[in-house]
Amino acid sequence: MGNDPEPEELARLFRERLEAEQRELDGLSETTGEDRKPVSLDQQSVGRVSRIDSLQVQAMAQAAEGRRQLRRRRVGAALARMEEGEFGYCAECGEFIGLKRLEVDPTVIRCVACEAG
Ligand SMILES: [Zn+2]
Repeated sequence: MGNDPEPEELARLFRERLEAEQRELDGLSETTGEDRKPVSLDQQSVGRVSRIDSLQVQAMAQAAEGRRQLRRRRVGAALARMEEGEFGYCAECGEFIGLKRLEVDPTVIRCVACEAG
């Protein structure tokens, strides 16, 4: 392993960033809840065109939330690995993933070689 960073060092470098992203994702899920609600079928209060608009807004909001939930799970898993002292090391071969790769996305779990293979 030689110069590979210690788990404490990796936590110092990345924990704050992961926790901040976690908070941001949770906040967005909360504030966008209204957009994902079922669209009202009440034709009196909403015309046909604006109802289609509403359905599109809802569909986009639901897709965005789906992506958010996925990312949220990845961020949560990265923080869990950090607790275990496994953060930053490849889930397949155990090699250090590399600071540059982690800088781009701290939630990656495989080194470049394993990701490609
Ligand atoms: Zn690997």
